Amino acid sequence: MSSPHETPSSPAAPPPVRDREDIDPRGKKRDRSWPPAPEPLPVPVIDNHCHLDFADGDEQLSVHDHVARAAAVGIDAQITIGSDLEAVRWTAALLASPQCPPSLRGGVAVHPNEAALHARGRDHEGRELIGLAAAIDEVSELLRGPGMVVVGETGLDWFRTSRQDEQARTAQIEAFRAHIALAKELDLPLQIHDRDAHRDVLEVLEADGAPERTVLHCFSGDAEFARECVDRGWFLSFAGTVTFKNAADLRGALAEVGLGQVMVETDAPFLTPVPYRGRPNSSYLIPHTMATIAEVTGTDLEQACRTIRATTQDVYRWPEVVAA
Ligand SMILES: [Zn+2]
Repeated sequence: MSSPHETPSSPAAPPPVRDREDIDPRGKKRDRSWPPAPEPLPVPVIDNHCHLDFADGDEQLSVHDHVARAAAVGIDAQITIGSDLEAVRWTAALLASPQCPPSLRGGVAVHPNEAALHARGRDHEGRELIGLAAAIDEVSELLRGPGMVVVGETGLDWFRTSRQDEQARTAQIEAFRAHIALAKELDLPLQIHDRDAHRDVLEVLEADGAPERTVLHCFSGDAEFARECVDRGWFLSFAGTVTFKNAADLRGALAEVGLGQVMVETDAPFLTPVPYRGRPNSSYLIPHTMATIAEVTGTDLEQACRTIRATTQDVYRWPEVVAA
């Protein structure tokens, strides 16, 4: 059997289908070097949200490289999320492949910003896209395949899609509601993308009834919103943003709710934790985020890892992957 490096077109280990941009949002050229590996965690945790379909870094890492680097520092399982149609298909193919690392699981959905594009019928480059209903149908079909443990990411994004764009707004809400229904139908957790849309996300979830296991991925709210979510039985997943200097509100949110309904993620290749903000991200950098989570909640690192790992296994009903 040849390695994924020698057979980049092998369906067993598909190469990434998307590239992360070289320029950061402020127009500066990014440092694309991979940060060094941190100290291993005392107890392993699961990265419950990353995007292995994305290429980043000066050195191209395969799926197997990401998994091996993560495992070496105590991240012994990952959930990879496909959020545009190409990535959705890629994720399904990876999980169905006999060469898929056994610790890997996945989720797919039509991302809110993609929902807006499907409704318009064209992507940013003007290429034709299938309609929103057809895209959601395809997601629904692929979620029934092997290795799928979550419907996501779905939700609302009023940052990249303007509130004033009526068609985009309607499409996002329609897609969000369809994914809520899918999570219930398939009895899967739901991962929510909420960007500048806390109130509206809450409203849609309340109106339709949130799935039993609802996760706010890359939680971005304040203490009050965190409390509202946790009181409703939902879970908050913290990414590298919790380590950012300007994220006092986010740390306040975490301190408010404590560890009980909290999980950890990378959202890699984005949101690299301090001190490597802006550089490529991968699951192996979670120890930086875990250190902040432990500190903010006043928990020792080992206990924080143990609690988060147990919560993550419960939410995704994942006892078979890592021993208790
Ligand atoms: Zn994501």
